Amino acid sequence: MIAENRSLPAIHDVIIVGGGPAAAFTALFLLKQGIRPLIVERDSFPRFHIGESLTGEVGGILRELGLESDLAARQFPIKHGVTVYGSNGTNTFWVPVMRRCHDGDLASTTTWQVRRDEFDQFLLETAIARGASLVKGDAEGVLQDDGAVCGLRVKTADGVQEFPCRVLVDASGQKTFLANQGITGPKERGGYEKQVGIFSRIKGAVRDPGEASGNTLIFYQEKHHWAWFIPLSEEETSIGVVVPGEHFAQSGMSTEEFLAWKLKHLNPALTARLQNIEFTEPVRTASNYSYHVRDFTGPGFVCVGDSHRFTDPIFSFGVFFSANEAKMAAAAIGDVLGRSAERDADPFAEYEATCDFGQQVIQDVIDFFWEYPLAFQMMAHKSHTGEITDCFAGRVYPAHQPSEAVVTMRRMLNRLRTQEPAVVS
Ligand SMILES: Cc1cc2nc3c(=O)[nH]c(=O)nc-3n(C[C@H](O)[C@H](O)[C@H](O)COP(=O)(O)OP(=O)(O)OC[C@H]3O[C@@H](n4cnc5c(N)ncnc54)[C@H](O)[C@@H]3O)c2cc1C
Repeated sequence: MIAENRSLPAIHDVIIVGGGPAAAFTALFLLKQGIRPLIVERDSFPRFHIGESLTGEVGGILRELGLESDLAARQFPIKHGVTVYGSNGTNTFWVPVMRRCHDGDLASTTTWQVRRDEFDQFLLETAIARGASLVKGDAEGVLQDDGAVCGLRVKTADGVQEFPCRVLVDASGQKTFLANQGITGPKERGGYEKQVGIFSRIKGAVRDPGEASGNTLIFYQEKHHWAWFIPLSEEETSIGVVVPGEHFAQSGMSTEEFLAWKLKHLNPALTARLQNIEFTEPVRTASNYSYHVRDFTGPGFVCVGDSHRFTDPIFSFGVFFSANEAKMAAAAIGDVLGRSAERDADPFAEYEATCDFGQQVIQDVIDFFWEYPLAFQMMAHKSHTGEITDCFAGRVYPAHQPSEAVVTMRRMLNRLRTQEPAVVS
């Protein structure tokens, strides 16, 4: 249970809706600038959350925030990369976690696999320890003044309270708080909207030996049918299958039966690892998770992470976008708060354009993977290894993109984007 803060200012510089990674990272980057936000979270932490495998860039952000030793103390498994198994279980390709050095060369690095209940609680507690405040409550409305958002209405245990602020950050995840309030554009369906994820945790799965034991494994069956295998501790592994919702519905099985059946038949390399397993968590599902929201910034408000977009979990980009967008949003907010009272139409327009740029790169990489899996494998393995490694690590913004690999993917997808080729220094 995380302690709430009771002595609050009359007007907050920044209020953040939600207490997940997008919220905590935003708070941590604001705190680096001396801005102390108020976080409003409705759930009691720790609470279960899916999204356990982190990209290399998230590892870099956690180090930048000085959190490496805390993560090591929690013994979260170390991830060196991702192995993707082809449908016959043998045709694999490997993407290592690598960083770009100042001279542009690639160098090995690592990131983590995290149990999100612990990870999210740790991040939120760290933000509070560094100066953020927390109110437990359900954000249920916004305050507005002359077209600008200027506060939040929250249902707390003490009744409904109003909290004025200069900037409201929506980090409410898939609940898309500001879209529901009609402040942003509406929530529109994404390309993977009809997929369903069915998942749990197991003991007894066979891992790769030594250093590789913490890596993510992805098992491909056929278009839009795949499974993940993410080590969460010495013993436990997160396991999940993702399939078209119709396929699951037509099976007539319960989620438990379907998961057990699919794990046996999806991919021989996966089956071989699961001969003596025991489920340690209930089977859960996620559906309708693919969407985007347009116009997600404006006077007095900005959305971060899942609150405006989530595409698909296949390459573990969810927490990455939360962390990176948090960093960019915090910089933009610092800028806005430092300016005079004069109002821009949208002081966060540049932030929004950069977020869309990165999200589109990943959307195209994922779409290409499903449309042309063999070409993707060739590019990852042979022709564009460094550039695919960049994408997987999360280097998806204008400094690195669109790379030749992404331009090639877009050409094959017949997709035009109004992005200039990246100038790679
Ligand atoms: C099947 C599946 C597998 C995934 N696997 C991965 C993976 O391996 N790696 C990865 O990086 N990502 C993965 N993701 C994505 C990842 O789960 C999300 O992208 C990530 O959790 C987004 O963080 P967030 O902080 O934006 O939202 P969240 O983590 O959802 O946090 C939002 C918070 O806001 C709170 N909230 C909501 N509404 C209100 C309100 N009105 N008032 C107060 N509080 C509110 C919620 O209680 C919640 O705590 C996966 C997603 C799915 C669907």
